[in-house]
Amino acid sequence: MKYLFGPVNSRRLGISLGIDLMPHKTCSMDCIYCECGCTDRLTTELREYTPVERVLEELDAFLSSAPRLDVITFSGSGEPTLHSGIGDVIRHLKERYPQYRIAVLTNGSLLWRPEVRRAIVGADLVIPSLDAVSQEAFGAINRPAAGITPSAVVRGLGEFRREYSGRLILEIFIVPGINDTDRELSLLREACLAVGPDLVQLNTLDRPGTEGWVAGVDRGTLKRISRRLAPLEVEITGTPEGRGAAAPDTDGMILATLRRRPSTLDDLASAMGLSREETERRVLQLKAAGMLEVERGGRGVFFRLRERGREM
Ligand code: SF4
Repeated sequence: MKYLFGPVNSRRLGISLGIDLMPHKTCSMDCIYCECGCTDRLTTELREYTPVERVLEELDAFLSSAPRLDVITFSGSGEPTLHSGIGDVIRHLKERYPQYRIAVLTNGSLLWRPEVRRAIVGADLVIPSLDAVSQEAFGAINRPAAGITPSAVVRGLGEFRREYSGRLILEIFIVPGINDTDRELSLLREACLAVGPDLVQLNTLDRPGTEGWVAGVDRGTLKRISRRLAPLEVEITGTPEGRGAAAPDTDGMILATLRRRPSTLDDLASAMGLSREETERRVLQLKAAGMLEVERGGRGVFFRLRERGREM
């Protein structure tokens, strides 16, 4: 599969089939924590980056067997709302496969554009990021394309909230020393209250990011930050629940997952619904075949695909 990946056991979404509409790595931001690596094409241009027709063919072929899924998720190698056909793909899924929920993971940077809001308004769940509100912190963490400002992002989020009746979860990625100061947290709290999401999720680095100096924070710090954001409902992103989907092509799924995000053996075992031993056996075989490379991160040894570098 070229545009689909998984299903994987996402820690936030359950059993999730991923749709990757963007070529690696095309994004409107170049976040320092991105697990897909550096942004090669930093852009705000809306275009049909991959052919919608091919994506729909892959979806129809995969979904014709009525697989057990909790959600179909737009994410992957860049910012999915840059793709001018995302609305067409969502409409197709809603018309033909109404039994599946649809989620969009977005950096939220383009929601000030009405056509982008219209394109994703049919999703059941939208998870935009909002890591910082001051120009300095926003620039330092997200390194956006020219023309994207934090005030435009917050305005776009507010407008989207007013037009969208689905579930909206704002994700804040905490980078110690940049957006965990009193001032930044106050600004974030104010902005989140103005937007009015259903939930705020706090996240931090738990696998190698783009910049090696970026560190994560411990759970105690995340708990303190969550209290600081009251009365917003805040969740600290947890660990996988261990559910898994039976995989017809497990090695292919492991490779598709590692092409988009570096993972430990435990991450993979949980995502694939396999035992750790079975996961290790398969991963070592793929590594022996020269398909994987290894990197040490905060949670241990991470595997990633060798041929294409990092993607989401
Ligand atoms: S984290 Fe998301 S928004 Fe940031 S550079 Fe990576 S793909 Fe783009």
